[in-house]
Amino acid sequence: MKIESIKIVRVAMPLIYPFRTAYGNDEVIDSVLVRLSSDRTQGWGEGTCFGVPAYSSECAATQFIVSRDIIAPLLLGQEFAGGKDLQDRLSGIKGNYFAKGAFDLAWWDLYSREKNQPLWEILGGRSPIVEAGADFGIMENHSRLIDAIAGANAQGYKRVKLKYRPGWDLEMIKAVRAEFPDTIIHVDCNSAYSLDDLEMLKELDNYRLAMIEQPLSNDDLIDHAALQKQLKTPICLDESITSLDKARKAIDIGACRWVNIKPGRVGGITNALEIHHHCEKMQIPCWIGGMLESAIGASHCIALATLSNIKYPSDIFPTSRFYKQDLTIEPIEHSAPSQFRASDNPGIGVMPDEELLHKFTLEQVEL
Ligand SMILES: [Mg+2]
Repeated sequence: MKIESIKIVRVAMPLIYPFRTAYGNDEVIDSVLVRLSSDRTQGWGEGTCFGVPAYSSECAATQFIVSRDIIAPLLLGQEFAGGKDLQDRLSGIKGNYFAKGAFDLAWWDLYSREKNQPLWEILGGRSPIVEAGADFGIMENHSRLIDAIAGANAQGYKRVKLKYRPGWDLEMIKAVRAEFPDTIIHVDCNSAYSLDDLEMLKELDNYRLAMIEQPLSNDDLIDHAALQKQLKTPICLDESITSLDKARKAIDIGACRWVNIKPGRVGGITNALEIHHHCEKMQIPCWIGGMLESAIGASHCIALATLSNIKYPSDIFPTSRFYKQDLTIEPIEHSAPSQFRASDNPGIGVMPDEELLHKFTLEQVEL
């Protein structure tokens, strides 16, 4: 399965309304798609690291350049024995996880299509049905959020994740918990705090949260370990876990009790699998995070969410939650309330529609 051609496309997908987190407010989602073609078929991957380097040190514009000028020339015309072989070929490139990840995802999709098998089966998933949670950003006021959570509960979501940042913090959780004493809730701080905020973070123990996601700096492990010792609520690491090595160290020093796995953030499915299997061995449960990907990236996330150590509803959304239109003709839709079904078609089961892709394209290149 030789890589005969590579296409790289940078897109900007307008959101229905701005997504507000501790990193700021996004009106569009910038993403880079990669297509790898063999002589028989093609596979698609996506790395969504946003338009500015706020979630990580990458952004879509740098991802496009690194993909075009550095990664693609290393892979074009090559054959790979497996995902590990492809990762080895890229091992000289430091960081740039989302860029490397989009190629790795595309390779797994291509590989599954060549084998004529659904990706989730190739990855060793236990069932095609995956559970997804509800996720709410910062809103204008508490009553709007309370209405939104009531809606999510009515729709059957089994957990609610709330973005959390200075100014949208303890008072918000207090109001939400008073209204919903039994809802499974966790907060995502997106690295907004430091150990100076210890007293506030300890207060969160009073609200029976399922976990606190990434309270401290985006690449930290040590302070998280210090914090976890002082909290009853489990810490879940997201931004800090960029590799198997970081996951291993985080678990060894007690920096977290949950790991959020995002295939883009860790450089692809190959690394996501390694992290998942290590966490399973160490009895650290995982779930799959989201970056508001198009249907391409979301389909990869659904396939990963079928793995056995995914023990909490993942951040996977139907197209209509954030977008008027997706890149595929068939949007991502729930198979049942709060659930998705991994495609039984070969690979991820979907491909971008050329016309829709063209509509959202900022720049593209084919090698
Ligand atoms: Mg997060």
